Amino acid sequence: MAPDLLDTMLSATAAVIRDNAEALTALDQAIGDGDHGINMKRGFAAIEAEKAAVVALALPQALQKIGMTLVMNVGGASGPLYGSYFMAMGKAMPPEAVTVAALAEALTAGALAVQQRGKSAPGEKTMLEVLVPVADAVRQAAEAGMSMDALLAAVREAAARGLKSTRDMLATKGRASYLGERSIGHLDPGAQSSQLLVDSICDVVATALAATKVEGV
Ligand code: ADP
Ligand code: MG
Repeated sequence: MAPDLLDTMLSATAAVIRDNAEALTALDQAIGDGDHGINMKRGFAAIEAEKAAVVALALPQALQKIGMTLVMNVGGASGPLYGSYFMAMGKAMPPEAVTVAALAEALTAGALAVQQRGKSAPGEKTMLEVLVPVADAVRQAAEAGMSMDALLAAVREAAARGLKSTRDMLATKGRASYLGERSIGHLDPGAQSSQLLVDSICDVVATALAATKVEGV
């Protein structure tokens, strides 16, 4: 991946987490302990602070470094989970020529790592409600040979639908599970942070694509 694209992605993700930290905290106050916003803000600010070192790396190593920084800085349950996600993606990502199929593989490996680390599965009201459908959407886009525009739309839609689905779910993992039935009726904070991250990365890719199209005229 072009270093400037990764650079823009790291700034965009840090910004979206910063801008939504209070909203993430409010969601976590409803069904957890109210630290998800601050946890995520700390982690993504740490990544932004080491951005120059990250973008100098090849993509697999860059993703692994991002994962380690998240483990060290986010804390809570979500730190090790997001950390595992990015580290597993880095391990699965080919060093060169990131195809859509390779991206699908990496996203699937990331979602599987979260499931292993969290001893969790989709349907338990967690970030997996977003991460798994997003990986599936990219895989389907690869198989169907979709245009990048169609891929981005499918990914955004999968993330939004996954997030929305958490509202009516009963939490059976993480702190929200302590609430039992009272966890129903609230969006999951980790699913919300995942959806925000996915959407902001789609924004960056869409902007880069639009620029290429303009240049191409
Ligand atoms: P903590 O729950 O330790 O306070 P955070 O508030 O930062 O940590 O993160 C909570 C989020 O982590 C949840 O909303 C959920 O999406 C995710 N999560 C918690 N436990 C698990 C798990 N076992 N598997 C997958 N995701 C989980
Ligand atoms: Mg919390």
